[in-house]
Amino acid sequence: MEDQKKYGMCKREVAELLRSHDINPTTQRIEIAHLIFQKAQHLCADEILAELNKEYEQVSQATVYNTLKVFVDKKVVRELVFAPDRIYYDSNTSHHHHFIDVDTGKIYDVSGDCVKCPELSYVDHLKAEVLEVSLILKGRMPQA
Ligand SMILES: [Zn+2]
Repeated sequence: MEDQKKYGMCKREVAELLRSHDINPTTQRIEIAHLIFQKAQHLCADEILAELNKEYEQVSQATVYNTLKVFVDKKVVRELVFAPDRIYYDSNTSHHHHFIDVDTGKIYDVSGDCVKCPELSYVDHLKAEVLEVSLILKGRMPQA
C-alpha cells in the first residue's frame, strides 16, 4: 500500500514526503531521506554517513545524527535500538518485527501477521501503558 510507494522515490517526492511530516526539506535532509528510502532497509547512522560521503564529503556526522533524530521524532523512519551501540533506522514504518541472523548480524523484517504476539495494553507491575509491541527474534539461517 502506501508504504510500498515510498521506496525508490525521486528527490522531488522525497521533499514532499518530508513536507507532509512537517519537516523543512533542506538539501541535506533530502539527500539522507533519499538514501534511506531507496528500499526497505535497516541502516545505522555510520552506514548512512559513509554512503553519503562515498564520492565527496557532503554531510557532517552531526548533520546525519541531527537529521535522523528529526526523522524519528516526526515518524518518517523507525528507530530500532537493539543495543546502545546497535541502533538502526528502518525505512519501513509499518508494524513489523525483526529477525536477526546470529551468524551475520543481518536484520530481516518479519510481518506482524506471522507472529502471534500478546495483545498487551498495560504492564501491571510497572503501571505502564504499552504503545507498541515489537519482537526481536534471533536465529540461524538454513546452511547452504
Ligand atoms: Zn524493519
